[in-house]
Amino acid sequence: MKRFLGVLGLSLLLAACSGEEEGSKSDEKEGIVVATTGQIGDAIKIISGEHLQVTTLMGPGVDPHLYKATQSDLTKLDGAEVIFYNGLHLEGQMQDIFDQMAEEKTVLAVAEQLDENTLLADEENATLHDPHIWFDIDLWTEVVDVIGNTLVEEYPEYKEDFETNEKAYLAQLGELKEYATGRIEEVPASQRILVTAHDAFNYFGESQGFDVRGLQGLSTDSEYGVKDVQNMVDYLVENNIKAIFVESSVSDKAMKAVIEGAKEKGHDIVIGGELFSDAMGAEGTEEGTYLGMYKHNVDIIVDSLK
Ligand code: ZN
Repeated sequence: MKRFLGVLGLSLLLAACSGEEEGSKSDEKEGIVVATTGQIGDAIKIISGEHLQVTTLMGPGVDPHLYKATQSDLTKLDGAEVIFYNGLHLEGQMQDIFDQMAEEKTVLAVAEQLDENTLLADEENATLHDPHIWFDIDLWTEVVDVIGNTLVEEYPEYKEDFETNEKAYLAQLGELKEYATGRIEEVPASQRILVTAHDAFNYFGESQGFDVRGLQGLSTDSEYGVKDVQNMVDYLVENNIKAIFVESSVSDKAMKAVIEGAKEKGHDIVIGGELFSDAMGAEGTEEGTYLGMYKHNVDIIVDSLK
């Protein structure tokens, strides 16, 4: 790299001496894009194909609500040409960094590009919106399109490939939606109640016809109390719920307290399985992709509640 810069410096110097204006090489983009969450990074990688170097900051099991940028993240963000993040306060600890970076490069909060009327309110703070928009496939489809359009604007030289890739991906999202709808019909309407560790699934519930309850608020910042556990136990017993679900990025301590509480009342509840909520699965696995993660969640939920 140092050597490259040396050569570049020399050639610029030579160009300056001879008075020749070559297309300024330093303006040429290298295709370095950084995303915060796995689902955003996944969409960028699929649309960009081989053309861009995509880095995702938050890996499997990472909780974006609490995530603080490391020194290495700051270096990556600094070196990025374009930064994509979810927004709507999902990455609550990183907003100052994004605001600062936005002064010198394109920094896009993808969820904040959606029509406000399509967003759900935060249950605890009505002035905020629920950030977990990727669980509504229609909204996520719009986000994918926003990402695609932004990439085309930033890297017009790859327009054709990006558009071809996006089109194919949108078709896969359509197939995923059909698959989810078909599977959810297997669950009787009275059992379409989804209880999880934190409120990540309101968009899932809204789009797929589930009543959703989370033990913690929308952000994992908020602590759950004894009263929350008690209320949840009562709710589960009253509705005769068979299974509740833990999440890969949230501690299951509270859920275990709920199961114990229900047991004391003579009601058995099982943990239906682990859902991916804010973080996706390991890279290289099916659940490490948006399509695979969503399908995994639908299969786990349907198989536990049907
Ligand atoms: Zn969340």
